Amino acid sequence: MPPLFTGIFFCMKQAWELAVLCAVLAVLALPASLSPQQPAQAPIVLHAARLFEVDTGNILRPGEILVEGERIRAAGTSVDHPQGAKIIDLGDTTLLPGLIDAHVHLFLHPGAEDLQTVEESVPWRTILAEQAAKADLLAGFTSERDMGTEGAGSADTAVRDAINEGLIPGPRLRISGNAIDILGGHEDANHFNPAQHVLSNADYANTAEQIVAVMREQHKEGSSFAKIYQTGPDRMVPAGSPPCLGDPVCAQIGLGPEPDDPEFWTFHTPYQYTEGQLEAAVAEAARFDTNVGVHCQGEPAARFAVEAGVASIDHATQLSSTTMQLMKQKHIPAVPTFTIFEYFAEHAPTPEAAAREHAMLDYKVHEFRRQVAAGVPMAVGSDVGPFPHGTQAREFELMVKFGMTPLAVLQGDYLNGAQILTWQNEVGKLQSGYYADIIAVPGNPLDDISVLEHVSFVMKNGVVVRQ
Ligand SMILES: [Zn+2]
Repeated sequence: MPPLFTGIFFCMKQAWELAVLCAVLAVLALPASLSPQQPAQAPIVLHAARLFEVDTGNILRPGEILVEGERIRAAGTSVDHPQGAKIIDLGDTTLLPGLIDAHVHLFLHPGAEDLQTVEESVPWRTILAEQAAKADLLAGFTSERDMGTEGAGSADTAVRDAINEGLIPGPRLRISGNAIDILGGHEDANHFNPAQHVLSNADYANTAEQIVAVMREQHKEGSSFAKIYQTGPDRMVPAGSPPCLGDPVCAQIGLGPEPDDPEFWTFHTPYQYTEGQLEAAVAEAARFDTNVGVHCQGEPAARFAVEAGVASIDHATQLSSTTMQLMKQKHIPAVPTFTIFEYFAEHAPTPEAAAREHAMLDYKVHEFRRQVAAGVPMAVGSDVGPFPHGTQAREFELMVKFGMTPLAVLQGDYLNGAQILTWQNEVGKLQSGYYADIIAVPGNPLDDISVLEHVSFVMKNGVVVRQ
């Protein structure tokens, strides 16, 4: 191992091509206490009263998992106990795969959601994001998709890489850098004093070519997928309003009255990108073996996004019958994000704002029941950030409260979540070959889903991070 000064001297003298080598030398020179956290050398056997089998939906009694290095080697009612293995008895708990949150914002924290991106520096926000990643992991979330740093650019690359190096605790991350948005769109800094040149929280793209160019820039800076703002601003409109408020695009693609839902068009949200523009984004993502996630509250934007082949429809407040059928056929999950809607309704600054937020939540719940009945695949994403990190298991409880069974919510989280994060066969099951991302909860989540809010044990990558 070279002494520290050798590395520094070397790096000062070299051109940018050697930056990677310099980074390696810098890590080698770290004091031992900062060296990456590695899985234990000896195998670990976890034992608990119960184990949740994702595919079958069965609860095995008891449950045992053999962990070797960063992977699960066996799981069932009993497993081999190799000589020298460390046995961890978790008593009267249920073993489950680590939770997946398909929609988080590590770079947001509660309070003044809009102004924190104006007032706080990117270095400060990065330090807070580190704390957020730790809080989410300790709450049992071992895999997350971060849906945009909201003005912190590609600072999420540093957070993800530091987690992967074992320098800081946090979930496995899929990251987008900034999200992508149109000029004057949902995430732009609209209505500030123009003379102040307040920056957008997202990267601008107004055409298909610009979307592709922005995606290439974000990829260069370390993103693993693209997040696109596809709707906004949202508002409730009086019952009896014409479909899409007369938007000719809706008529063109055949969106009209929803026969079984006379209240359907009481929610209105303009689209930002056409189907063709989103197709360009999806094709560019495919070139990198990745996908596109959209903030998408309603029609006709959702129809465009689903036709284009995005990975998921996030928020998904308003989906027409045709869009729901297409999502089922193409297996594109909705990510309802109830927790953020509930939080905004309960923390509104004025009674008028509270009434608006509650009306939107009521509408959303009504539509969600219709989506569940239509067989739309569901994944679990909380939109945590504007509400405190580490509290987002509330999302599971709300999805059950509003019409799904605990089993359907858990299978949606693990199977559809892994699909969205493109980590199928890696996370979401307690099965040989999968990453050893494992949690334990008191009680049985199939009887009471709220036990997920009381995670008592967390292992990620074969390393115990909470016990
Ligand atoms: Zn979000």
